[in-house]
Amino acid sequence: MSRYKYKVCFLGDTAVGKTSIITRLMYNKFDSNYQATVGADFLTKSFKLNQNYIKLQLWDTAGQEKFRSLMPSYIRNSSAAIIVYDITNRESFNSIDYWIEDIRNERGDEAIIYLVGNKTDDPNNRLISIEELEKKAKQNNCNFLETSAKVDHNVNLLFEKLCTSL
Ligand code: GDP
Ligand code: MG
Repeated sequence: MSRYKYKVCFLGDTAVGKTSIITRLMYNKFDSNYQATVGADFLTKSFKLNQNYIKLQLWDTAGQEKFRSLMPSYIRNSSAAIIVYDITNRESFNSIDYWIEDIRNERGDEAIIYLVGNKTDDPNNRLISIEELEKKAKQNNCNFLETSAKVDHNVNLLFEKLCTSL
């Protein structure tokens, strides 16, 4: 039995659902009211995978979106980055490019990156197809997945996949 510990940072535009995904994973609940994140900088969650214990330190970058200059230190210290966008918000999808650039500048090609399209529970307002996500992921050598923090779609799967990648 081995134990591993990794830092994972959540990046992405404001209101795409970063805090909600972490809240779903940690507490299995969802709040439809928007709340700016307060409190701890990170939460830890342990997974057991193939006889190994994996402890993830999840860094929620809420509030830092405005302060891009703070981001490099979060990124530099993380083994993996999860870039979240909202499938009903084109601008949040376009922002992925900037986040990838920041990560590659800090961590080079070794960085593990997940592109996560959140809010699949709202298909009527979908603007980004899974094909478009897949294309961007392949172009940038990233993993990808769609989730809904609201209805608990693929949230656990995201972290299981992430643990396997790490
Ligand atoms: P953050 O700024 O990226 O941390 O975003 P939040 O997690 O605070 O979520 C922003 C808003 O989107 C809140 O009103 C959430 O309730 C809502 N939201 C988050 N995830 C989902 C989702 O999967 N589906 C829907 N419909 N709304 C969501
Ligand atoms: Mg937040």
